Amino acid sequence: MRLCGPGLWGIAALWLCASATCFVASAGAVPPGAAVGSALPKAKWVKHRVIPGERLKEIGKRYGVSTRSLIRWNKLDPKRPRLRAGSRLRVHTRLVRPARERIRYKVRRGDSWGRIARRHGVRESHLRRRWNPRSRRLRPGDRIVIYVEGDAEQASSGGGTMQVSDTAFVSRAGSSVRPSLLLEGESAVQDFLGAEAAAVGMPIVPVSPVSQSVGWPSGGRIRHPLQLPDNPVLYTIRSPAHAYGASHTLYHLQMAIARWRARTAYGRELVIMDMSRKGGGRLRPHRSHRSGRDVDIRLPLAPGIPDGTVPIHADQVDWDAAWDLVHALIETGEVTYIFLTRSRQVRLRAAAVRAGASDAYLAKHIQYPMREKLHTVRHSKGHTKHIHVRFKCAPNAQRCKE
Ligand SMILES: [Zn+2]
Repeated sequence: MRLCGPGLWGIAALWLCASATCFVASAGAVPPGAAVGSALPKAKWVKHRVIPGERLKEIGKRYGVSTRSLIRWNKLDPKRPRLRAGSRLRVHTRLVRPARERIRYKVRRGDSWGRIARRHGVRESHLRRRWNPRSRRLRPGDRIVIYVEGDAEQASSGGGTMQVSDTAFVSRAGSSVRPSLLLEGESAVQDFLGAEAAAVGMPIVPVSPVSQSVGWPSGGRIRHPLQLPDNPVLYTIRSPAHAYGASHTLYHLQMAIARWRARTAYGRELVIMDMSRKGGGRLRPHRSHRSGRDVDIRLPLAPGIPDGTVPIHADQVDWDAAWDLVHALIETGEVTYIFLTRSRQVRLRAAAVRAGASDAYLAKHIQYPMREKLHTVRHSKGHTKHIHVRFKCAPNAQRCKE
């Protein structure tokens, strides 16, 4: 279901999206090569730095220009236009794109090419064959090269040739705008969503990978902040102004809830409470919630408890649904921990046992009845009505601290 005009994927898309709530409610609806960074009212000359394996056609798509023009502007051989990685091409375009950043990524245990590609919003085939042709097998500790989409700030401060309009990132363009979807070049959105999202069979709203966590959750901020997109099938956002987060958080939060919805019998609303403010920083009364990686989720309600109830008593909570949710969050592999007061953990653990969780799984993920805080679900005072979920730093968020 596409909720935006047919011109969405063109250059005009940005304006469309920037002026209305606009999102794609099902995975896979974003066409490859949807190239949008920022549309200028008038074309100007920019320089494009060629990355390894990049093709002329792709560069054309990126800037909405023809291959023929690129050949002409850069005096390339029309029969065999050779592109050298690192060389620069002159491009006359209205579509300004931040330069891509080359990062060296250290392979972690459990990583696969597909997983790394998805998390960085790049194509697996590029990652593998173009940028790291010599790394056949991935071993933890190996370093591989990834070219990620850069951000507008760097582009605008990076030496005169690039200029990025304020609407480049809708999130910064105005508070009334819900930046549910930003189109990314190189079909990053599609890759970012990946087959994983499609497989869940639930509507997932694409999230651009631009929003980044900076610093610590109790002292940091968010660069290019994005809001958790509306997705009423999955959840209800209590306060949109406090529903900003890092792209990594927004994506995995949606995925976890989608998986949970696909499996649970719980058909009622799930209320997302505080996340972060736009841009992050202090959000009272929380100590953390500053860098876009914390999400408070109200515990699901037991049958017979009216919608909207704040479950102050443990009996008002549907613990089976709560466990399924916690389980889905853990399954993302991107959750550092989940705060829940000890007295409530008793109930959660019982539900986990009912659901057939193994002793080893319980020992790993639920603190109760242990005392030390080594587990995913761990005690913190005051977390009786909601769980507080802390997400990991995105692998490409180099200034994110954990
Ligand atoms: Zn919290």
